[in-house]
Amino acid sequence: MQGVDLHTHSNISDGTLSPEQLVHAAIEKGIHTLALTDHDTMDGLKQAEAIAQDLPLRIISGVEISSQWSRPATQKSYGVHIVALNMQHPEPLLLLLEQQKQIRSIRAKQICDLLTPLIGQDIYADVIAKVDGIADRITRTHIAKTLVEKGIVSRPQQAFDKYIKEGKKAYVKFDGLGLAETIQVIHASAGYAVLAHPTKYDLSATNIRYLIEIFAQFGGDAVELPPAIEPASTRQMVDRMVAEHGLKVSVGSDFHGDHMPWIRLGNIPRLKEGQVGIWESFV
Ligand code: AMP
Ligand code: MN
Ligand code: MN
Ligand code: MN
Repeated sequence: MQGVDLHTHSNISDGTLSPEQLVHAAIEKGIHTLALTDHDTMDGLKQAEAIAQDLPLRIISGVEISSQWSRPATQKSYGVHIVALNMQHPEPLLLLLEQQKQIRSIRAKQICDLLTPLIGQDIYADVIAKVDGIADRITRTHIAKTLVEKGIVSRPQQAFDKYIKEGKKAYVKFDGLGLAETIQVIHASAGYAVLAHPTKYDLSATNIRYLIEIFAQFGGDAVELPPAIEPASTRQMVDRMVAEHGLKVSVGSDFHGDHMPWIRLGNIPRLKEGQVGIWESFV
C-alpha cells in the first residue's frame, strides 16, 4: 500500500500545483497510484492522465464532493466530503458536478457579499482572478488567501476563524446533495464512495460513529483512515467502526501544496491487520 495516495488537490481547485506538477511530484515521492480529488470538479483529470501516460504512475479518476448529512433527531445538517474514486462510467457524476459547480460559484459571490460590509471592500474581483475567471472553482481557501493578501487577516486560518467558518458572519453553507443521493450517483457512475476525513468535521465522537454507520447503511464503500498525527484513540474508533460495518478503507494525504506545508504528498497511515484497501477493488 506504500505508494498509494487517493486524496490530493491541484490548482484546478484549492491546491497550488498544476495537475502536471502534481504528477511529477508524486513520481518523486515514489507514488504509483494517485487519485486527483479536487473539490466538486474533475476538470484536472485529463491533464493528469495525459502527463502520466508515459510514466510509471496510474491515475485514478476522482473528485471530492461537497455533500451533506442531516441528523434526523436534530434536523441539523452537517457538511461532509465524499471522495468518489475510479469511475468507469462517469456521466451521472459529471451531471451532478455541473450542479455542484453552480452552487459553488453562487456561494462564492454570496460569501464575498457578506464580507463586503464587514471588511469595507468588495474582494470578489480579486478572488475570481485567482481561478482564472472560472467561478465554479472558487473555494473558501481562495477567499481566505485573498483576505491575507489584502492585509485584512495575517494567515488563511484567521480568515476562517474570524469570517468564513461555520458560525461566523460570512459563512455560507454548501447546499450540496444529501449523503444517500451522493453515494447513489457515484455507484451509478460505477465508482467507489469514500467518506473523507471522518474526524475533521467538528463532530462529537458519538456523531462520528453515527455518521459512519449511516454512510455504511447508505451503501458507502470505504472510510478514509485518519493521519498518523491524530490521537491513537481517534484512529482506534475509526478502526472499530470500519470493522463493525464491514467497510473497506482508503488512504489519502489530502495534499494541497505549499500553503498547507504540514500535509505531505504520499504521507498516508498504515492499515491495521484485516483491513482491506479500496484500491484492491480497482479494475
Ligand atoms: P469549501 O469547499 O469552499 O468550503 O472550502 C473547503 C476548503 O477550505 C477545505 O478543503 C480546506 O482546504 C479549507 N478549510 C475548510 N475549513 C477550514 C478551516 N476551519 N480552517 C482552514 N481551512 C479550512
Ligand atoms: Mn481543500
Ligand atoms: Mn475535505
Ligand atoms: Mn480534500
